[in-house]
Amino acid sequence: MPKSIEKIAVLTSGGDSPGMNAAVRAVVRTCAFHNVECYGVYQGYEGLIEGDFKKMDARSVKGIINKGGTILKSARSKEFRTKEGRQKAYDNLSEEGIDGLVVIGGDGSFTGALIFNQEFGFPVMGIPGTIDNDIFGTSHTLGFDTALNTVVDAIDKIRDTASSHNRLFFIEVMGRDVGHIALNVGIAGGAEEILIPEEDLGLDRLVESLNKSRKSGKSSSIVVVAEGDKIGKNIFELKDYVDENMEGYDVRVSVLGHMQRGGAPSCFDRVLASRMGVKAVEAMLNGQSNYMVGLLDNKMELTPLDNAIKGKTKINLELLRVSDIMST
Ligand code: ATP
Repeated sequence: MPKSIEKIAVLTSGGDSPGMNAAVRAVVRTCAFHNVECYGVYQGYEGLIEGDFKKMDARSVKGIINKGGTILKSARSKEFRTKEGRQKAYDNLSEEGIDGLVVIGGDGSFTGALIFNQEFGFPVMGIPGTIDNDIFGTSHTLGFDTALNTVVDAIDKIRDTASSHNRLFFIEVMGRDVGHIALNVGIAGGAEEILIPEEDLGLDRLVESLNKSRKSGKSSSIVVVAEGDKIGKNIFELKDYVDENMEGYDVRVSVLGHMQRGGAPSCFDRVLASRMGVKAVEAMLNGQSNYMVGLLDNKMELTPLDNAIKGKTKINLELLRVSDIMST
């Protein structure tokens, strides 16, 4: 029988995402519900190393479910990548009597948690918080849905100006390694083309397709480009290429950047965060460790952290086909 858990700490790590606060709230309230003490750790793993903890009760997380960012702050900690740093973190946790850790973050944060567990046998549980939706073992990461809504809203606004001036807009969205945001917002925003890291459309085919949609009577166009697309040119070079190889369009670029990470979490992300927080704490109280909580077939499921880190998410081929048909 694993030793029973009496004090749980929670931290947010890596890039922030909308819904992290709602997840912190859920972890704290689930601990309160089960009469387990809960500690918030500031600045991710940096706070573990510095001993920057604060005891949190159910009331201490009031008014945060609707807030973007993370009240616990997030950080990227170089020191936690070293054995000495992790030893300091372990000593601080032990001194406080904390015996379980919930990590809200991305795959890097999970790697740190897993190494920490392997070195010290310290129980850890992961909640996937990143807007990119690039984590294996969950159909949705926390913040993905909110980011989609934020980006679609921006595309709608850009389309207003694009259609008033017969413009072609290249809109860059987040997604260095995966095109989940680009593909979804491209469909929802009515984009003519979507460039994602998983597929290389090729420059000639892009120009051909844009010419085709122009001939079919479209006077403005939107092309959604994921940061990590494989067409071989950055978004400004793409603009120059299309300017040189196409006539009749005024070509513009819009890089949406960090605004995609901000804002109040959507209803979906708030509910998801609440479910994930409950599941993470209850799994830990049941003696489980080294898992990530995820949403699969609308159920809360546990995936071993190792699989969540190493597994790859796949682009939805059906969505790709839908986007092709819709841009006819
Ligand atoms: P995002 O998806 O936003 O990048 P992430 O969790 O993947 O989020 P990282 O910067 O990769 O973000 O990792 C967050 C922190 O996790 C790092 O700053 C570091 O402290 C810890 N970490 C990552 N990889 C390791 C590792 N191999 N060993 C120990 N700690 C690690």
